[in-house]
Amino acid sequence: MSERPVRVRFAPSPTGPLHIGGVRTALYNYLLARKLGGTMILRIEDTDQNRFVPGAEDYIRESLEWVGIKLDESPWVGGPHAPYRQSERKPMYRAYADQLIRDGYAYYAFDTPEELDAMRERLQAAKVPNPQYNSITRTQMRNSLTLPEDEVKQLLDSGAPYVIRLKVPRKEEIRFQDLIRGWVVVHSSAVDDKVLMKSDGMPTYHLANIVDDHLMEISHVIRGEEWLPSAPLHVLLYRYLGWEKTMPHFAHLPLLLKPDGTGKLSKRDGDRLGFPVFALEWHGTDAETGEPTVSRGYREEGYLPEALVNFLAFLGWNPGTSQEIFSMQELIEAFSIERVSKSPAKFDQAKIKWFNEHYLRAKPNAELAPYLLTALAEHGINCSPEKAEQVVGVMKERVSFPQDFWQEAKYFFEAPIEYDQTVISKKWNPQVSAALAAYADGLPADSEPSANAEVLKNIFNDTTAAQGLKPGQVLQALRVAVTGAGAGPDLFETLAILGTGEVGQRLRAAVERLG
Ligand code: GLU
Repeated sequence: MSERPVRVRFAPSPTGPLHIGGVRTALYNYLLARKLGGTMILRIEDTDQNRFVPGAEDYIRESLEWVGIKLDESPWVGGPHAPYRQSERKPMYRAYADQLIRDGYAYYAFDTPEELDAMRERLQAAKVPNPQYNSITRTQMRNSLTLPEDEVKQLLDSGAPYVIRLKVPRKEEIRFQDLIRGWVVVHSSAVDDKVLMKSDGMPTYHLANIVDDHLMEISHVIRGEEWLPSAPLHVLLYRYLGWEKTMPHFAHLPLLLKPDGTGKLSKRDGDRLGFPVFALEWHGTDAETGEPTVSRGYREEGYLPEALVNFLAFLGWNPGTSQEIFSMQELIEAFSIERVSKSPAKFDQAKIKWFNEHYLRAKPNAELAPYLLTALAEHGINCSPEKAEQVVGVMKERVSFPQDFWQEAKYFFEAPIEYDQTVISKKWNPQVSAALAAYADGLPADSEPSANAEVLKNIFNDTTAAQGLKPGQVLQALRVAVTGAGAGPDLFETLAILGTGEVGQRLRAAVERLG
């Protein structure tokens, strides 16, 4: 393995929405590329036309854009190794399959589906645990290793259907070094004679993937652990194609587990466990009923892309320090494959919410105000951008998602209809009511520029003192009278945002209603 420019690729198959595990794979590739000054490539692996799902490619693109993963080469931005869709590269693969046959590393197999089924049944009857087309069973099948040469020629000439299979050696240790797992050693008897070219002339994933990684000069293959079993086969392909010297480094990322650790987090878990497993909402169709389906997305549920990125980065990697908040740039600087763990990572819903709260609070009010303004407009409420900024400014410490602003801050726009009864029963009495009435009367006019939180607080303290009360005896009643709720952000800030005219009106109404 020689040292050469760092070129990594994310190679999704457009078979459905991109799962967050896939987003994590893309992220780790991106972090490594940026960290090492390399190139980030996206290749669409769409050789399996039966599994093609319309819209999946656009969805992949939009998901990566949303989380901020920038591609240097892709079907959309192009690049020196275009095309970047395997279906458009179809004519390139055949020559490599032919080369493998010529060099004795692959062979034609003419077995019909019925013959393959019969083989499997035979092996099952003989209690072979994992029936496969392999170095042993191929000797009893109809292929160019068992049939006489002239029969093979005649079959090929007559256009008989065939596949091309890799000729895996019977007794050999296949070893390679994984950057995360160290040495991986697999005995070739555990590897079957995988199909490289299908009867329709399409390459399989294995052949196309290796040919493309080679032609695209990929230096590091970073992918999910589910591909680890394929790696020995890939190593053989590199060797047999004569590309061993430039074989990429492999790094197989740890599995993502369900929150309780009982197995792999799957595409179906989201609905069952109550959280999204996709970056974006996905509109699909049920495979059995054909009915339209909707799968939840982090974006639509109010998660910020920064939060998802920070969260995913930590699912399998850690910086080795106690720092948890990392921007994309900080992740790039801190990231290394050496610190990627080989043990699986458990999905933690509370943690991603925690990240979201952090990033929400860190956002300037002007960026958050539109969320509130949109909700207000939907409810037919007019509000100036300035006021919306003030409201989100005091509320952002108290919400987890941007869409909570409206729910939690309604009282800035609507006078309370109900009052928190627990507080009322504990704190409301004739003396308190009189003090609030006096406070309402003593408030400066709205036009008074000095009607800020501090002034309103001082007036409150003076008024309560004049009524022979301590501020603490009236404070909660004041909050409930104005907002209806027993808790909220800084009370005098709230009053200042509402304006003294509105506060006065609400206080008078409360005094009247509560006595
Ligand atoms: N097309 C494969 C996938 O869908 C790519 C695996 C690899 O990265 O080699 O994940």
